[in-house]
Amino acid sequence: MATTTDPVCGMTIETSAATGTAIHDGTTYFFCSRSCQESFEADPTLYAAGDQ
Ligand SMILES: [Zn+2]
Repeated sequence: MATTTDPVCGMTIETSAATGTAIHDGTTYFFCSRSCQESFEADPTLYAAGDQ
């Protein structure tokens, strides 16, 4: 099963179990909860920048 990291809280989640998704700059992000999704959508660049 595919896993990904919730960019807001840093939790590892299964993509199939994600509560919400958002697309920013061509990348799809997955979230563990609606509140994490809302935080991301409020300021995508803050989280999407990450530490890559
Ligand atoms: Zn989260």
